[in-house]
Amino acid sequence: MSIWSDKGHFINGIWTGANGATPVENPTDHSIIAHISAGSTRDVDSAVAAAKTAWPAWMATPVAERAALLARVAELIEARQDDLARAITFEVGMPLKLAKMIQVGLPLQSFQNTSRIASAFPFERKVGNSMVLQEAVGVVAAITPWNYPLHQIAAKVAPALAAGCTVVLKPADLAPLNALLLADIFEAAGAPAGIFNVVTGSGAKIGLHLATHPDVDMISFTGSTRTGATLAREASAQIKRVSLELGGKSAALVLEDADIVKAVKATVNACFLNSGQTCSALTRLIVPASRKDEAVEIAREATRAFVLGDPMDPATRLGPVISEKQREGIRRLIRTAADEGGTLVTGGAEAPDGLDQGYFVKPTIFADVIPDSTLAQEEVFGPVLAILTASDDDDAVAIANNSRYGLSGSVWAGSSERATAAARLIRTGQIEINGGRFNALAPFGGFKQSGYGRELGVYGIEEFVEPKALQF
Ligand code: ADP
Repeated sequence: MSIWSDKGHFINGIWTGANGATPVENPTDHSIIAHISAGSTRDVDSAVAAAKTAWPAWMATPVAERAALLARVAELIEARQDDLARAITFEVGMPLKLAKMIQVGLPLQSFQNTSRIASAFPFERKVGNSMVLQEAVGVVAAITPWNYPLHQIAAKVAPALAAGCTVVLKPADLAPLNALLLADIFEAAGAPAGIFNVVTGSGAKIGLHLATHPDVDMISFTGSTRTGATLAREASAQIKRVSLELGGKSAALVLEDADIVKAVKATVNACFLNSGQTCSALTRLIVPASRKDEAVEIAREATRAFVLGDPMDPATRLGPVISEKQREGIRRLIRTAADEGGTLVTGGAEAPDGLDQGYFVKPTIFADVIPDSTLAQEEVFGPVLAILTASDDDDAVAIANNSRYGLSGSVWAGSSERATAAARLIRTGQIEINGGRFNALAPFGGFKQSGYGRELGVYGIEEFVEPKALQF
């Protein structure tokens, strides 16, 4: 069943260059759900030229009009949310209900919020005898991954356009359909030609060509730390602005007076969301040594709710992971965790019963994980939770900070004062206190090797402007 007929790339408001060369696979049953076009460096050059040509007029467009376009896009996302969610379930494998709520809900908020915030953003501000303009950076290369395909696109495209930048997007080859559906939406919304362009194809070939293109002023990237490092290196050679949202190994700290049932259940849910393929997933659960057995039992029990199966089936809580390569990498890490002394609580590396088709991995938990072991240090990007123990609050913080990553975290304690005191010492970009909800207006981004730059809310727009002072 094909859910998209190839129209090629969306360049300068026109669909072009269709070659249907790349199949898109459904990770649930290996069926081919679409063919998309393999872009060439020439396609990238055309898209960058279109974005460059469109930029001056878009930057000069009153902010109210730019905001109005984002609002129209939001309305169309809302109107088409079922199609978008279905495409995500087919290409990523996330259960449909969750895909609609999170994978479409968040980008909808990004476009709505950014539209609203843009109207009040200080694009011009008087400072003493200066007028400080916050001018659009220029042409932005947006390179995005497959795990939350529409969310990660929206978190870049909405603020970049609000700021007056124009965009060339290179979505992930494993899950490109949402980028193309979004191009359809921009077309329907009557977006000026060239402000938003999409070229599909290989990362190493056209992604790199796009990022290093001399007419691209900024790279906004979400993906692996390895590719992020390559792009940071390339950007430095050209003194090009770069914003990187990379990997994570986030910790949930359960302090000794916390509501342990609530804390452990919430952590298991956060770890297994989207089959563990979430950069901010809480993948290390740090509990007081005295409460380890209790925590292990709660975690084992909570895992029972994660019924594996077809993500189109409403009973399913856990779909497959994205690809064979991903599944094999996860299995390898599960075997390593056992070899390095972790105690398997539930799950394991072997294929789940009755699910031989599809890239399924059992939700897996290890206890007695040593802070320096592979499982405690490496990002798994699969449904695998590591339980570690700490002797007191300071020890828990030290274990949490014993990571080259610094994306997210959570702290649970009897009082928010105690939780906040620990949170202040944790080196990550965001931390939930006693189950605090995700806030789409708060800055999202990482410390350390989780990257630099922030997305969402007003912080997202700030990434895409250059302050310029006019002295009077
Ligand atoms: P993941 O492991 O999540 O796929 P990647 O970092 O490999 O993470 O991919 C994220 C995005 O970066 C994808 O759109 C991919 O095609 C692109 N990409 C991969 N390698 C490169 C590269 N060398 N240069 C530019 N983009 C790349």
